[in-house]
Amino acid sequence: MSDDDTAETAATSENLVELAKRRGYFFQSSGAYGGVGGFYTFGPQGAALKGNVEDAWRDRFAVAEGNMEIDAPTIMPEPVFEASGHLDGFDDMLVECPECGESHRADHVVEDETEYEDAEGLPIPEVEEVIAKYELVCPSCGAGLAGQAVETFNLMFETNIGPGDSDPGYLRPETAQGIFVEFPRLKEYARNQLPFGVTQIGRAYRNEISPRRSIIRTREFTQAELEYFIDPETDEPDLESVADVEVTLYPASEQNEEGGEEIETTIGAAVEDGTLDPWIAYYLGVAREWYAALGVDMDRFRYRQHLAGERSHYASDCWDAEAELDGNWIELAGFSDRGAYDLSKHDEYSDDRFTIFRQYDEPKTVERAVVDPDMSYLGPEFGGAAGDVVDELEDLAARDRSAFEGDSVEIDLEGETHEIPVEKTGFAVEEQTEAGEHIVPHVIEPSFGVDRLVYTVLHHAYREDEVDGEERTYLELEPEVAPTFVGVFPLQSDDALETEANEIVDDLRAAGLSVTYDDSGNIGRRYRRQDEVGTPFCVTVDFETIENEATTVTVRERDTTEQKRLPVEDLAETLAAIRAGDLSFDEL
Ligand code: ATP
Repeated sequence: MSDDDTAETAATSENLVELAKRRGYFFQSSGAYGGVGGFYTFGPQGAALKGNVEDAWRDRFAVAEGNMEIDAPTIMPEPVFEASGHLDGFDDMLVECPECGESHRADHVVEDETEYEDAEGLPIPEVEEVIAKYELVCPSCGAGLAGQAVETFNLMFETNIGPGDSDPGYLRPETAQGIFVEFPRLKEYARNQLPFGVTQIGRAYRNEISPRRSIIRTREFTQAELEYFIDPETDEPDLESVADVEVTLYPASEQNEEGGEEIETTIGAAVEDGTLDPWIAYYLGVAREWYAALGVDMDRFRYRQHLAGERSHYASDCWDAEAELDGNWIELAGFSDRGAYDLSKHDEYSDDRFTIFRQYDEPKTVERAVVDPDMSYLGPEFGGAAGDVVDELEDLAARDRSAFEGDSVEIDLEGETHEIPVEKTGFAVEEQTEAGEHIVPHVIEPSFGVDRLVYTVLHHAYREDEVDGEERTYLELEPEVAPTFVGVFPLQSDDALETEANEIVDDLRAAGLSVTYDDSGNIGRRYRRQDEVGTPFCVTVDFETIENEATTVTVRERDTTEQKRLPVEDLAETLAAIRAGDLSFDEL
């Protein structure tokens, strides 16, 4: 990308943030109290756009895939995050300025000012060395940061559940845990059969060290996540349906190589040559088509594989969907192979079972070492600990049959060794028939950030041109996501025109379209207002409409500003067909 392009897109971002505030897309929250870093409110346009994006995600990743959607609480108790590893491992690197006291993400300071592209993956001492070597300075006040300690900072927001502080809770840092902890119940709804998927769209919270770039890095944001539970030995994705999808990939091997490049390929070819794991490949293919339909510019979109040090504590492989904004690549979504990590952890830490029963094709006969201890011996000998002795003997028999080969067997009870005569243990090797085994499913996770996608859709749709000698700004939003689909205007202030326009508004709303009515200012200004929020069509009611027998209105298309006269009678049906993608304006 050239410097000119970078300058142009940076200007786009500045203009976009200004437009977003002025027109009600998004703005910093609690402005009346000075605003608070990392929290944004979506205004009327933004909330509608975000809602449309979420609906589109639900249609594609829940409904069309046959997955189940849930809605779990955003606060969860501490043991959940002990098990998930977030309490210990969900950290960013923090460096504090010795002069102004401002905190910064040390890896971002390094990435912004050196050639390092992935400082997140570096060990802390190395980050400290790089800061010293390059004499990096505080982005806020310019004071030197060399010699400052880099520390880890846990990103979770802590709270207390109920009065007092004996029951700590955390605002979830990802929606995923709400799905994992309910697995024992969710598997029942899936009739105990793999594979199955569970989705959730909801808020997540991260106490980011330095929130920045408006809604791209905030402290409260919306995620749309799918956890797809598979049997890694038998389940396979429907690769055929995405094999021909063209993708730009930036694998770790290319990133590690000097002069390494992005690769243009197809999902099918990338699986065949081993670049992509089949399950991740499937979701990269589905998501590529979905992003394109939403209006993300595919010339500024790629999938980048995480480098080894960059991966989260739970992931064995991860690819990010990235979009180019202002000359930088930002992460829109992560596609991770979380393996058996999460369910194994919850199985270990909780009282429930996070496994699924895998039925064998044919029942298997296996030899099992069992014990049937003589309680008339163990009772008097061990008293209340006799039950623990039985457990120990059962474990030992399963683990090491040879321990029972002598006259007595040794067991360990709370650090003390005890000898028990083998004849009192009832040890035997029996043949048993087993129908299957309990396995911990693996998880494939596409994890989407909704806010960053909303920002990208707006950024990639931002246009400036000239109409009738006047400069115009417009958003070339796809009809599927545009907050308003059609604006309806009476040409001028007139009772008859206004009545007819209001009737048309009612008709269009009854057809399920999102409509705005505007009668203030001259017609050119009203068009500009709708162009600026990305409304695809405007309908103008003029005197020809009310005087003519075959009543018609002017319909104007946003991008070309082309106008056509259409009968009022089929207006709702025609516009609804365009909204549904069954008809185009050109065909009218
Ligand atoms: P980053 O590296 O940018 O901090 P991440 O790798 O930690 O992001 P994930 O844990 O993979 O992010 O979360 C999934 C998605 O949630 C991201 O792709 C992103 O779209 C979104 N997301 C994560 N953190 C934030 C944030 N602070 N603000 C807005 N969206 C976020």
